[in-house]
Amino acid sequence: MYRGRFAPSPTGPLHAGSLVAALASWLDARAHGGQWLVRIEDVDLPRCIPGADQTILAQLAACGLIPDKAPVWQSQRTALYQRALDPLIAADKVYPCGCSRKDIEAAQHAQGLTKPRHGELVYPGTCRSGLHGKAARAWRFRTTEASVSHWVDRRLGAQTQDVHAAVGDFVLLRADGLFAYQLAVVVDDAEQHISHIVRGEDLADNTPRQILLQQALGVPTPSYLHTPLVLAADGQKLSKQNGAAALDTATPQAALGALQQAAQSLGLQVAGSGDNTGSALAAWVAQWRDSSPAPFSP
Ligand code: GLU
Repeated sequence: MYRGRFAPSPTGPLHAGSLVAALASWLDARAHGGQWLVRIEDVDLPRCIPGADQTILAQLAACGLIPDKAPVWQSQRTALYQRALDPLIAADKVYPCGCSRKDIEAAQHAQGLTKPRHGELVYPGTCRSGLHGKAARAWRFRTTEASVSHWVDRRLGAQTQDVHAAVGDFVLLRADGLFAYQLAVVVDDAEQHISHIVRGEDLADNTPRQILLQQALGVPTPSYLHTPLVLAADGQKLSKQNGAAALDTATPQAALGALQQAAQSLGLQVAGSGDNTGSALAAWVAQWRDSSPAPFSP
């Protein structure tokens, strides 16, 4: 049974890039005769904007992208995340960490490691063998030399990452008491029986960590397809600073225009795709189904 999802973080309204991920995940589900769910990823509460969840749901609806089940909110699912974390603690697959960011920087400096990776510091493993008298702040997933993830992305092909070397022991429960995205997304995808994940390429780098977690939790690894990123005019990733304006979906014409732009980024034929969202979506489902073999073959 195919079940896909779109999992936006309500840090603002949908923009051109997020609509590409939404459309691709919807098309892939429809082309497979599967279900499509929406999950509001508001686990990182400090980054969320009040009301952005409803704005996103309204934008999706205006584009004709209607979930097959009622959306869920991660902020209401923390008991599930705790229930997943507890056995990992019991099995010593995670450990408490008392390091502040400053402690991590100092330990890295002492080891001659100064280069952050995507702004994230590779954790030097200070608390792996105990808290050394410090108070526990966060819980980290224990990686080892065997923590190498392999997966075949439907668009990017065979992928490998040595998570131990590239990322280090990563946080599952943060110092501020919030569950980390990595844990929440893995627990939710498993609990919602998501079989196919279709999302933007900016998230591909998280996949190896998520696969390690799936293995630790004994849940299946879904199929992955990471879609091309929509770049801003300056060639950078779209962000609010370089023109990732909120999508205009206020009128049916505007919604159709936004969808057409997203479809174009996915390599779909836009001309002759119809003059309303319903007929355009139907035309793209047919194209998606027929686009065989790669780039998007199942
Ligand atoms: N909530 C994440 C984001 O908006 C997406 C997570 C996912 O699709 O796995 O960037």
